[in-house]
Amino acid sequence: MSKVKRSRSHPMRLLLIEDEHKVADFVARGLRAERFAVDVAGDGETGWSLASSIDYDLVILDLMLPGLSGTEVLRRLRRRNNAAAVLVLTARDATADKVENFEAGADDYLTKPFAFAELLVRVKALLRRPPPARSHVLRVADLEVDRLTQQVRRGGKRLELTAKEYALLEYLAAHAGRVLTRTMIIEHVWDESFEGLTNIVDVYIRHLRSKVDEDHDPKLIRTVRGVGYCISDEMP
Ligand code: CA
Repeated sequence: MSKVKRSRSHPMRLLLIEDEHKVADFVARGLRAERFAVDVAGDGETGWSLASSIDYDLVILDLMLPGLSGTEVLRRLRRRNNAAAVLVLTARDATADKVENFEAGADDYLTKPFAFAELLVRVKALLRRPPPARSHVLRVADLEVDRLTQQVRRGGKRLELTAKEYALLEYLAAHAGRVLTRTMIIEHVWDESFEGLTNIVDVYIRHLRSKVDEDHDPKLIRTVRGVGYCISDEMP
């Protein structure tokens, strides 16, 4: 049977999905001491049912879970456009796993064993990010992407982009702070039948950088080695 512990409502509400009781207790206790409201689910199904019915600010998700895997929980959340930040906890640290989970919509990744202090820093950083933009203007530092007029400004100055460059920039800006893999970018910006060069993304990123970043600071378009790209004004 699954175990669910619920706590009182609080502006910052966290869900911890973790089947190892010792880890779950240790993390939940530490976070509650930091005044977060923490719900704990001991398996994937319970975690998914809580996450899909309650508005969490952040989900801390173990990958190896009985029943529904952490990756599957993550995919379901993102398919529903659930806006909660997701921090993945796992004993696996292979690059392929990281790529798979970033593609599924993870915002950050922490490999076990970890120190509580590091978990806390990452949780706080994720919670500081603004919620997904509801306005039609996406902003990253002094960059503005207007989804209605499809105009782009940096430091108030209009940038001239081609249609594909605009589509790529809008996709990055709509997910500011999140790492997007080349596969995700190709699927969103080019159509599914795209069979061109696999380096098409890198080519377009280079075009965008020359227009968006070359004459400006800070540089906003980041390369995340072995994974993909991210637009952000926070230091990596
Ligand atoms: Ca586990």
